[in-house]
Amino acid sequence: MAPEMELSTHAQTALEQIEKCTSCGLCKDVCPVFALTFREAESPRGKINLLRAVLDAKLESAPETADVFNRCLLCYACQDACPAGVSTEKIWISGRQTIADEAGIPLLKSLFLKQFLTNSSLWKTALKVGAKLPGGDTTIKLKGMRFPRPSQNRLDRILPEVLEPRGKQVGRIAFFPGCMLTEVFPHIGLKAAEILAHLGYEVITPQDRVCCGAPAFNNGDMDTGRKLAQKNLEVYSHMEVDAVISPDATCGGAFRHEYDILFPPGSIGHSEHREFRKKVKDFGEFLLQVFSKRSDVGFKPVENVVSVHDSCHLNHLQHKADVPRKLLSYIPELKQVESPRNELCCGFGGSYSVIFPSESKAIARRKLDFMQSSGGKTFVVGSPGCLWNLRTEAAELALDVSVVHYLELVWYSLIGAAKQTKSPVSKESDSVAD
Ligand code: SF4
Ligand code: SF4
Repeated sequence: MAPEMELSTHAQTALEQIEKCTSCGLCKDVCPVFALTFREAESPRGKINLLRAVLDAKLESAPETADVFNRCLLCYACQDACPAGVSTEKIWISGRQTIADEAGIPLLKSLFLKQFLTNSSLWKTALKVGAKLPGGDTTIKLKGMRFPRPSQNRLDRILPEVLEPRGKQVGRIAFFPGCMLTEVFPHIGLKAAEILAHLGYEVITPQDRVCCGAPAFNNGDMDTGRKLAQKNLEVYSHMEVDAVISPDATCGGAFRHEYDILFPPGSIGHSEHREFRKKVKDFGEFLLQVFSKRSDVGFKPVENVVSVHDSCHLNHLQHKADVPRKLLSYIPELKQVESPRNELCCGFGGSYSVIFPSESKAIARRKLDFMQSSGGKTFVVGSPGCLWNLRTEAAELALDVSVVHYLELVWYSLIGAAKQTKSPVSKESDSVAD
């Protein structure tokens, strides 16, 4: 950064947090990237010192700086571990933008964020092409990168915009499935809506919703992130609903946390976001509220031994790690066992798994080792990103386990068992007719 340059607002945001850091290094103990590489530069403290040097104009922002800064899963374990109350969330997001301001965003990434994410017809075309690219059942491999394979059917083809409640209507829900449940796991997105309808809610899934913006603002493109967030506020904030619900902990976390960074007091969208935020709930958090008040839900037994992974954005971002366990405790005959280091990230990290596939896989394997030691036969996650990474890795290792989103087990107990569906696991091969 040039010495004479004034700090931008986001650079100041990062600096305020950096100044709280005492360099104690306690955050290194919980960082899954540091546990893999043992390189100080890739630890949270190392990245904070790197950004400090950039902001102090001791170091130029360059693509190499961005590369080090990108070696982070945005799991926020470091934030929860920090005794000085440093918001690493603010440092990573504002820092990535500060570095992108000077070093730029690589062309392909920028094209994806600025053109594809914001243009629904380009997005749909790209996904159709992507679904046919080489790779594995769940993965596309391209030029050393790996991506989740889009489904042949997107959620909006199998879920109507308005899903009527079963029986007497008790309320109305705005559903935000997120991109992973829309494009990669539409069967699970459908199950989420079916659970709500089964409980008597009318479920509205607006077809003009867009990505929550996390891939953009997490990669230093705040303008695209804000544009996407504004569109979602336009679509959702004026809806007359009991709650806006997402089963994707990353999207829910973005609505509750990162949108605060996008829409500070006085900015356009601030008041809409405040209204919207009041209605946002994690899918499981909402179900727990319903289950705690009703005795007519009718859970069927599910004989299984499950181990719950604390999905980072449910745990470290929304602080709702107990939600899946409490939900599953309603299901008769379902036994829960704990695995060591439940809080460890699965290695997904959005673009981290795309840019650093071997590191992402190695972190997933370590996680699966811990989970296997619990004796569980089914591993349960709270976010579709974890689902993809752990399910893909478990399949590659031919492990005799299933990896499911907690909502698949709830669906199975409430709806699937009654329909005599064989397994709670949703597979793309449970194909839906075109
Ligand atoms: S734990 Fe907090 S204060 Fe200590 S090095 Fe990490 S960020 Fe800085
Ligand atoms: S967010 Fe996670 S991966 Fe990134 S520095 Fe913190 S602990 Fe490490």
